[in-house]
Amino acid sequence: MEFEIPRSHPRYHSLVAREKLVEAFKKGVVVPQGLIAHGRGECFDYLLGERSHDFAVEAARAAAAWFLLARRPVISVNGNYAALAAEEIRELQEVTGAPVEVNIFYRTEERVRLIEEELRAAGVRKVLGSGCEKTRVPGLESPRGIVCRDGIASADFVLLAIEDGDRTEALVRWGKTVAAIDLNPFSRTAQKASITIVDEAVRATKLIVREVERLRSLDKSNLKQIISSYDNKKVLARAFKAIMERLKEAAEKGSLI
Ligand code: ATP
Repeated sequence: MEFEIPRSHPRYHSLVAREKLVEAFKKGVVVPQGLIAHGRGECFDYLLGERSHDFAVEAARAAAAWFLLARRPVISVNGNYAALAAEEIRELQEVTGAPVEVNIFYRTEERVRLIEEELRAAGVRKVLGSGCEKTRVPGLESPRGIVCRDGIASADFVLLAIEDGDRTEALVRWGKTVAAIDLNPFSRTAQKASITIVDEAVRATKLIVREVERLRSLDKSNLKQIISSYDNKKVLARAFKAIMERLKEAAEKGSLI
């Protein structure tokens, strides 16, 4: 990092995340639009109190159950997710065995390679992207629809983060179960995903790792029970309520400190 951020700074984690993204932007891993998307996420993290809520834990548990039951789970990674959470993605791959696919909206083969390098440098092993046989997500024209035939195209379960709503919707239409990490419960991704983890990408990935470790000893019928009793609408409603309650408290007191 170019300058040392003091640990005592009240916004330490937020500043570290910004530094990581700026560095990744300079390397070409993150696009300028990704920096803007991060700002939108930060705003919602503020409203959520910058912590993981119980509704995020419940969604992470459902995603973990899917990882353990799926025939072909895939972790879809874009520039922002790689820049912020490469270590946590490695941990998630270690506990699930799922391959990682570099899947980006602003696609150039050079950028795919840079993201692969970033992930490999963090110890991620099974990385699909530049070298794979390609196909297209039905209904998504232009390079943003390109996916790996042995990766997302043949997956039954896809975890993605900080993703565009159009692509999330196209994957769901294609028959995939999609778990999305997205701080904004209003976004089309959050609304269209099968499971929405309304939490910050690093915290959410850690939650899924923890839940996979917790659920690992359960038998299939118990895992299926977690999935069948999961209701994403209710989880999203709880996220909206958490934001509303924080705003209500702020509106009544004029302060949240
Ligand atoms: P949509 O197309 O789904 O309606 P959008 O137009 O906001 O949403 P993007 O800007 O492509 O789409 O997506 C970025 C999404 O990721 C936003 O919803 C943003 O709130 C969220 N986001 C940004 N940074 C983070 C982060 N660090 N952790 C989790 N979510 C994030």
